[in-house]
Amino acid sequence: AKARGKGCYLLFESHMHEQLLDRLDSESRLRDAVHRGELRLHLQPVVDLIQRKTAGVEALVRWEDPERGLQQPGAFIPLAEETGLITEIDRWVLFEACLAVKQWQDRTPDASPAWVSVNLSAANLDIPDLTDRVAYALATTGLSPHCLVLELTETVLMRDIAVTSARLEELRELGVKIAIDDFGTGYSSLGYLRDIPVDVLKVDRSFITGLEDNPRQQDLVSAVIQLGHTLGLKVVAEGVETEDQLRLLSRMGARYAQGYYLGRPAPADQLSTNTATVRAG
Ligand code: C2E
Ligand code: CA
Ligand code: CA
Ligand code: CA
Repeated sequence: AKARGKGCYLLFESHMHEQLLDRLDSESRLRDAVHRGELRLHLQPVVDLIQRKTAGVEALVRWEDPERGLQQPGAFIPLAEETGLITEIDRWVLFEACLAVKQWQDRTPDASPAWVSVNLSAANLDIPDLTDRVAYALATTGLSPHCLVLELTETVLMRDIAVTSARLEELRELGVKIAIDDFGTGYSSLGYLRDIPVDVLKVDRSFITGLEDNPRQQDLVSAVIQLGHTLGLKVVAEGVETEDQLRLLSRMGARYAQGYYLGRPAPADQLSTNTATVRAG
């Protein structure tokens, strides 16, 4: 029994060792990904349910890992956040997203999104020249500041409220808009609405999933939509996957929706040729 116990221990140890090597390997390859041009920009439509057309797009990053193929954010964003690489990734996405949408607007002014939203991880708020980075991306690409939305989760906003508010005000003075992402999943959702200057509220997918089967959830989502509107915010329902969900949201007065039912994330060139096929009910 003793020998077996020891064997198990060694097995466990070598497994840990492998994991560590694997992680170091991923980390060094992720570190080079930006410079090697391995990041890919995908855009997902945000649909205006009244005008029945794509109103905006959300920028979502992918990593074309030469060893493992196309990686979704869940596979590398956590590592990027732990290692601090995330601010370089976010900077790349910010620039590419502004560029892609500006080019789209120039090409087809009547059939292009009015805004692009970009996700910012917490570490960005510690960068002293964040506002300069944003201003630089806008100036170099020529995208109007009114066309850019920065998405921050409640966990990001949860840090020092005074510092965060000052930061966001600085950004808003450029003319860009601020969205609270994954609204409703944080620690003090109502607190942020009171204390933090925001323009857009994105209702988390967990409140949309199963909406058709849960009257109580419907009342809750309906109330959140009204709340957002009362505060003068744009409200976007995330993760809409079915026609029933879309119909319910329309009936509740939701103006904007995003989800697989309306359009999956895709490279900009694929999306721009498909905008005519948007479904809105
Ligand atoms: P998020 O910001 O909440 O983005 C929405 C996620 O939900 C995206 O996943 C999108 O593909 C997915 N989604 C959209 N519609 C549906 C639907 O109808 N059903 C389901 N099941 N999922 C849907 P994705 O692209 O895998 O990104 C996951 C998360 O990674 C994002 O969540 C965001 O937190 C983070 N992320 C993505 N790109 C970036 C980035 O450039 N920078 C930073 N900091 N984070 C990013
Ligand atoms: Ca987001
Ligand atoms: Ca979200
Ligand atoms: Ca999320």
